[in-house]
Amino acid sequence: MALAEFEIIHRYFSAQGAARADVACGVGDDGAVLRVPPDRELVVSLDTLVEAVHFPAATPAGAVGYKALAVGLSDLAAMGAEPAWLTLGLTLPRPDASWLEAFSAGLGGLAARHGLALVGGDLTRGPLAVTVQVHGLVPPGGAVLRRGARPGDGIYVTGELGAAAAAVAHLRGELSLPPDLAVVARRRLERPQPRVAEALALRGLVRAAIDVSDGLLADLGHILEASGVGARLELQALPLHEVLQALVPRLGLETCQRLALAGGDDYELCFVAPVQAEAEISARLAALRCPVARVGVIEVHPGLRCRQADGRLLSCPDGGYEHFHE
Ligand code: ADP
Ligand code: MG
Repeated sequence: MALAEFEIIHRYFSAQGAARADVACGVGDDGAVLRVPPDRELVVSLDTLVEAVHFPAATPAGAVGYKALAVGLSDLAAMGAEPAWLTLGLTLPRPDASWLEAFSAGLGGLAARHGLALVGGDLTRGPLAVTVQVHGLVPPGGAVLRRGARPGDGIYVTGELGAAAAAVAHLRGELSLPPDLAVVARRRLERPQPRVAEALALRGLVRAAIDVSDGLLADLGHILEASGVGARLELQALPLHEVLQALVPRLGLETCQRLALAGGDDYELCFVAPVQAEAEISARLAALRCPVARVGVIEVHPGLRCRQADGRLLSCPDGGYEHFHE
C-alpha cells in the first residue's frame, strides 16, 4: 500500500508519546514551539541509527523504533536531565504500513512511558535510517558532565554489562549461545532500559557520568580524558550479566570480562562520585531496584589500569566501537 508523506505523518507520528502542556505547537507547522521553564536549562542530544551499521537488517520494526529513542534517553540520563520532547528524522526505502505501525508503537510507547512528546521531524526516502533528537531539562548548572571526576572518587556502574555484546557476537556467528540465553541477550540488545529514573534519583550526588554505549573502557576513557585523571578498575567487581556468567565455564573469566569491558550497547550508567556518598547512592538506587557496583577508583596518574583479583594487570584492549577505525 502506497502512503503519501502527509498521510504517514498524520497516521503514525502526529500524536505519539505523552501529551504535554508545555508544547505550544507540535507536529504540523514549520517548527515546534516549546515552553522551556525560566528556571531550567535545555539539554539536547541527537543520535542516528543506520540499518546494517547500528542494527542488523533483520531487526523487528518495533525494536528499531524503541532503540532509536532508548539511546537518546540514555544520553539524557547521563546528563541528569529529565526527558521532555523529541523530534524524529526517518529515512525509509519504501512506505510500508505494517512496518510503520510497529515502528511508531515501539518509539511512541517508550516516549509515553518516559513522558516525552514527539513534536516534529522529517521524512525522506532512502536506505533505512532513524535520527532521534531528545530534549531534556535540568536545573541551572545541574547538568552532569564528563569532566568532574577527581582522584579518590569511586567509579560506579548500574545494572550488568556484556549481554548486548554477547548478542552481537551470537548474531555474527562468532559465539554460540544456548537458545534461552540467546533470547535474553537479544532482548538486552534490542530493548535496553535507559536509566532515566536512576539518573534523576542520583542528582546532587554524582560528579561525572556517561552512558555505556561503546563499552565501559571506551566510555570511562572519555570521563578520564575530560577530567584530566586516570583510573584503576577492579575486574572482580565488574557486574557481568547472567548471560556472560553462564559463559564463564566455557570461555574463561578473562574472555567474559573483556566482552563486558569492550562490548557496547549496554546503556547502563557509568558514574563517578565521592566514596562518602556511596551509602546514599546505594539507598537511592536500591529503592528503584537498580543494582550498582563500585568497579574502581579515580587516580591522579593518567590512563586506565585493569587489575585482576590476584593483582595481575590485564592488558586493556583500548576497545569500544569506533566507526572510522581502520
Ligand atoms: P516542512 O516541509 O515545512 O519542513 P514537513 O512536510 O517536512 O514540513 O513536515 C510537516 C510537519 O510534520 C512538520 O511539523 C514536521 O515537524 C512534521 N513531521 C515530519 N516528519 C515527521 C516525523 N517523522 N515525525 C514527526 N513529525 C514529523
Ligand atoms: Mg517548512
